[in-house]
Amino acid sequence: MSEILVLVEHVDGEVKKVTLELLTLARGQGAPSAVWAGPGYTEEARARLAEYGAEKVYVADSQEIVDYVVAPKAELLAQLVASASAGGVLVAATAEGKEIAGRLAIKTDSGVITDAVGLGEGFVADQSIFGGGINVRSRVAKGTPIVAVRPNSVTPEPAAGAGAEERVSVTLSDAARAARVAERVKEQKGARPELAEAAIVVSGGRGVGSAEDFALIERLADSLGAAVGASRAATDLGWYPHQFQVGQTGKTVSPQLYIAVGISGAIQHRAGMQTAKTIIAVNKDSEAPIFELADFGVVGDLFQVVPQLIEEIDKRK
Ligand SMILES: Cc1cc2nc3c(=O)[nH]c(=O)nc-3n(C[C@H](O)[C@H](O)[C@H](O)COP(=O)(O)OP(=O)(O)OC[C@H]3O[C@@H](n4cnc5c(N)ncnc54)[C@H](O)[C@@H]3O)c2cc1C
Repeated sequence: MSEILVLVEHVDGEVKKVTLELLTLARGQGAPSAVWAGPGYTEEARARLAEYGAEKVYVADSQEIVDYVVAPKAELLAQLVASASAGGVLVAATAEGKEIAGRLAIKTDSGVITDAVGLGEGFVADQSIFGGGINVRSRVAKGTPIVAVRPNSVTPEPAAGAGAEERVSVTLSDAARAARVAERVKEQKGARPELAEAAIVVSGGRGVGSAEDFALIERLADSLGAAVGASRAATDLGWYPHQFQVGQTGKTVSPQLYIAVGISGAIQHRAGMQTAKTIIAVNKDSEAPIFELADFGVVGDLFQVVPQLIEEIDKRK
């Protein structure tokens, strides 16, 4: 069985959920090998990767890998693709992951697919394209398939792998040292999950009416342990920060549950959320396009519906 390389996403030594999703997908294609790049590797991390099916864990934990922007990780993966004769590479479809995928494709003279939302037998990837208007199934026809998969595309399932640790060193080229990271600033984070990775997202739109009333969206999100998102109308109006915008020109989310509150469902908004597994819409206009997409819809005033919803959720806790 060929090795499928999975680039590990990690923060402060902790393996991120998307990596467990990638390992789950990799198991359907071959023998998953996790690739740890940068400092922070621990025995707990190895055990976690093994728990989700990593047969091998390649560890390149030198500081140098993260001292430069993106390129070292692509060089590390290119080296491993060659030495392990890898059958494919999976990375998370984050901004960094997609750049790594593109660079790796050039280095290995391979095809690349980004923003996949599923992966079937023979590395056939599912994508949702043109603002989500068309679903595509495609396969890399040249070289080693490299696929960037959106977070939350699958539910991670444990399945023990050997988790054999193998230390690797990478000799960086001068080109990989072209852009040095000058400073890292830690983002101030609240208690809510990361928008792009959250299992549940509650988003508010122009229907919310004001910045103050976004507190209601936050309350609903907190009652579900969800992330908060917003339509562009809401962020452009300054009601919620731009980094929480969902859509074509904002973040792409693929949660298990997406609740759209006071959002009409414009094509540009759908582009960022329509691969959510279940979509619930609350809108006072029964003709709002979001209802074409929603699995469940509530036609009503959000200021009446949402407080009742929070009350019901709280009762069940
Ligand atoms: C190039 C380009 C890129 C874009 N990128 C994005 C993007 O990334 N993300 C994005 O979201 N948009 C994007 N847009 C904007 C997009 O076209 C829409 O204008 C935007 O999504 C509308 O936001 P909305 O649904 O919140 O507002 P509206 O379309 O104004 O809808 C508000 C909805 O709230 C409902 N409502 C009002 N009051 C209540 C109430 N009390 N209770 C319940 N429902 C109520 C209304 O019935 C209505 O359906 C982009 C546009 C362009 C041209």
